[in-house]
Amino acid sequence: MKKDSRKVMALMLLAAMTASMTAGCSGKSGETTSTTAASQAAGTEAAATEAATESGLEGSLISAEPKEFTIFDNFNNMPFDSNWQVWQEVQKRTNIGLKGTVALTNSNEDEAFNLMLSSGQLADIISYKDSSELEKLGRDGGLIPLNDLIDQYAPHIKAVMEEDDRFRQACYSLDGNIYYIPKNQELLSAEYWWIRKDWLDKLGLEVPTTVDELHDVLYAFRNEDPNGNGQKDEVPLFDRAGWKMPEEYLYLWDTSTTFYPRDGKMTFEPLEENFKTGVKGMIQWYEEGILDPEFFTRGSSARDTLLSGNLGGCTHDWVSAGNYNTSLADAIPGFEMVPFAPPADQNGNVKERVSRYPGAGWGISSMCSDPETVIKFMDYFFTEEGDALMNWGIEGDTYTVNADGTRQFTDKVLKSELTPIGYLRSIGSQYRIGMCQDGDYEKAVMTEIGKEASDMYDSHPEWFGTDMPPYADGEIELKYTAEDDTEYKNIMASIQPYVEEKFQSWVLGVNDFEADYDDFIAELKARGIDRALEINQKAYDTYLGKN
Ligand code: CA
Repeated sequence: MKKDSRKVMALMLLAAMTASMTAGCSGKSGETTSTTAASQAAGTEAAATEAATESGLEGSLISAEPKEFTIFDNFNNMPFDSNWQVWQEVQKRTNIGLKGTVALTNSNEDEAFNLMLSSGQLADIISYKDSSELEKLGRDGGLIPLNDLIDQYAPHIKAVMEEDDRFRQACYSLDGNIYYIPKNQELLSAEYWWIRKDWLDKLGLEVPTTVDELHDVLYAFRNEDPNGNGQKDEVPLFDRAGWKMPEEYLYLWDTSTTFYPRDGKMTFEPLEENFKTGVKGMIQWYEEGILDPEFFTRGSSARDTLLSGNLGGCTHDWVSAGNYNTSLADAIPGFEMVPFAPPADQNGNVKERVSRYPGAGWGISSMCSDPETVIKFMDYFFTEEGDALMNWGIEGDTYTVNADGTRQFTDKVLKSELTPIGYLRSIGSQYRIGMCQDGDYEKAVMTEIGKEASDMYDSHPEWFGTDMPPYADGEIELKYTAEDDTEYKNIMASIQPYVEEKFQSWVLGVNDFEADYDDFIAELKARGIDRALEINQKAYDTYLGKN
């Protein structure tokens, strides 16, 4: 990478950091748009109309003649299917059709992706779950830089880049190129703390506001038989988040088993004081029966099992945790889960680490013969029409528009045998492409209590931290140079399993934490943690626009 391009990149990032922090999606909604961004968006909108007039194309047509491009996309192991209703509609309106290159029977995205790369036959458009892999493919020449194409032909994508810091940061690779258009997220909050309100009431307890109060409430859940069956069978604190479960508990003490930045400085949290407090807390909670005794192994069915068994008391989960108030109403009279604010940690700070970030989207391969048309097509999904198709489906069929312009789903979606999101995906909406996931769409399928959770957390952006790079599934996602990427991954391949193994053995009481700790730190140093920290600090400085 050239040094000067990094400087340009740093300047852009610096500008990004000084601009306002919003989780907004695009210029389509006035509510989340600053005045400047709105006028920019309006300006580009006008430019787009002008361009359309010049080209002589009607409506949303992108090409006068029908054109077809190939696409590699296997979102959630659902290979792209050109027969999906929404994509048929897209084709009708734009004159652009897509043909999937992944066999509809394929159920292994990684394998299909590697097969495509090794065959040398790249689809015109490529989408993949891992944005760092897309960037790598770009650096290797498999995806073309989109910067100039966006500048010239994609006014709606450009408007979102100008307006939304997090989206823009996701767009740029460290070499200054844009290799893919991300899938953006309008809502900031993702998961929420939930607790059995009926159990609190039964035991005469208040909603906890600190980690110590949470301990006392959960201790009571364990020992005072809130489910009333005379047995000490309650599982006060549980989660269904797989490997990151222990992380979600450690967040209560503002720590984790991985990296986290504070005041501009990258830390590896096991080396820090909060980690000691957190691990000791978890050991105690485990001994007291507050933590699910099977939390390392229970897996994704934990929530269903423990709630429907009237055993679980508190968890950290998506809005869907509120659905049980309806589904269990008959089986467990009075059952009531309510959202509550993240409890203040031992230092008095209220923080929510889990939030949403723009994710992987799609890019244009070096084998595409008509990138100009494809980028115009990609821009379509950032127009109001394309956005509605991807978020809401087909007007009059899957949704209707109210007099005030808001939308609502029809029963076809809300009362389908699938979940609402499942139904929408079955017709090709909410697929993995460069687009904005609409917050209103999500609220439209939420229950009242789910909406309450989402509104509560989204109205407290200060809980989420302002200098945070993407932090997905308990891991920080920074951008590295090619050399740093390899070195960093090598070091962490040795460190991360070691940390996880030790951590588990302490919580389960197999090893003694305090007796082990000094040796543990020495071993981390021997395995190169200082160098990994150095690489992460450099990547974080770049993120902050400092180098
Ligand atoms: Ca009981």
